[in-house]
Amino acid sequence: MIKTNYKKTFGPIIILFTFLTITVLSFVFKNNFVGMFALFFLLIIISPSMISELLITDLIALLVSLTGLIGMSFTDGVERFFLLGEIAAVWGFVWIIHLFNDRAKYREAENKNKLTDMAAEIEKTKKEFFANKIKLEKISLRIAQYKNLTFATKEITKIDNLQELKEKLKNITKWILKCDNARLTTFLPTDDRPPDIFDAWVVQKQSPLLIANTLRDYRFDYSSIPKSIKSIIAVPIFHNKNIIGIIRTDSQVENRFLQEDMVVVSLLVGVAEITVENITLLEKTKDLSIIDGLTGVYVRKFFDERLHQEITRASRFKTPLCVILSDIDHFKKFNDTYGHQQGDEALKRFSLVLKNNCREMDIVARYGGEEFAIILPETSKNECMEIAENIRNNFQNEIINGQHITVSIGISAYPDDATEHSQIIRKADERLYIAKSTGRNKIVWKN
Ligand code: GH3
Ligand code: MG
Ligand code: MG
Repeated sequence: MIKTNYKKTFGPIIILFTFLTITVLSFVFKNNFVGMFALFFLLIIISPSMISELLITDLIALLVSLTGLIGMSFTDGVERFFLLGEIAAVWGFVWIIHLFNDRAKYREAENKNKLTDMAAEIEKTKKEFFANKIKLEKISLRIAQYKNLTFATKEITKIDNLQELKEKLKNITKWILKCDNARLTTFLPTDDRPPDIFDAWVVQKQSPLLIANTLRDYRFDYSSIPKSIKSIIAVPIFHNKNIIGIIRTDSQVENRFLQEDMVVVSLLVGVAEITVENITLLEKTKDLSIIDGLTGVYVRKFFDERLHQEITRASRFKTPLCVILSDIDHFKKFNDTYGHQQGDEALKRFSLVLKNNCREMDIVARYGGEEFAIILPETSKNECMEIAENIRNNFQNEIINGQHITVSIGISAYPDDATEHSQIIRKADERLYIAKSTGRNKIVWKN
């Protein structure tokens, strides 16, 4: 902005007034030197108001005025008026120079101001540029993160077992957030670490948690927060409306995680939830195809596959293996007498007896109608006979619809009776047939 120079504007006016005074006084004092010098000093006092900018011009004018004033004291009449006029003209001239000078100064100041304004504008633009650059860098980072997310989504959806999903989810979270301590709490006894207060909060509130600075988050008791944890992201993983796990990552640095990071983790978890759903469905479908719907034991196809595998294993490790083939006695008659539903009940009860007498590693299957088969890996014929006897005995003690039902059993052993899948089954079947034809409710293990 331009400041008005009042000294410059009013200076010439003051000078004109001064000369009017000089004129009057020089007539009053009539060649009085004292008066002339008094006026001269008056001019000296006034001059600084003008000489600041055009020092030489003003000084010359002062000298001319002084000479004029001295001359005036030696002259009289018209000459004195001429001298006075000359002095006035000199000052008028000085005034005009000042006017031009002021205008130039004004323009210069104006340009200077414009330059200052422009510099400020450039500075502002520069700041904006850097702010935008930072924003752009952040956006690029996000874009990279979302790109990674797309890749991660594909990876996660490919997974078909929960253990792998658990591992991948941890690693992908670390990779996407560029942090090194993503963890998954699953509330299982086998888990890496027990849940802490933050996990408890997530479970209680059933919602994700973002903490920028644990020391300033008054939702948590300060004394129970580990000193090493400053910022946290914790997102729950839901399955069938229940929390089955929490993906957690924390940092020793304040404000390490932002809202956007939590959005990214939540998206990941969303994909993981769908994967859990798919894996569970897959498991169910798998189960449906290998488990008999009525009795809950394996189907014949699965039994045959496993028998092949178990024979291979037994041959490799030189261990024994037995197969039990069982058939309910007079089952047709039972069905005809008590109805199909009671028959089904009998089948379920028999399956339970079989399961109760077998170990986890044994494979119990419904071989057909009311015929059931069992693979007993690492079992000698004597041990197998004992198990078969328990089955026979336990089942005949069951009361179904007020009746006792019995079962006939044939046993064959690897490698004593046969070494091939079909031979082992055939041998057991032959012995079952013998059991049937020699009175039923018995176990045949040799012939
Ligand atoms: P045996 O002592 O010689 O084995 O005589 P059985 O009557 O048990 O033998 P059979 O093979 O003639 O009869 C088997 C019966 O099992 C025929 C069928 O009605 C019955 N059955 C097969 N599957 C089922 C089932 O899923 N539910 C019911 N309730 N009955 C079944
Ligand atoms: Mg039968
Ligand atoms: Mg039968």
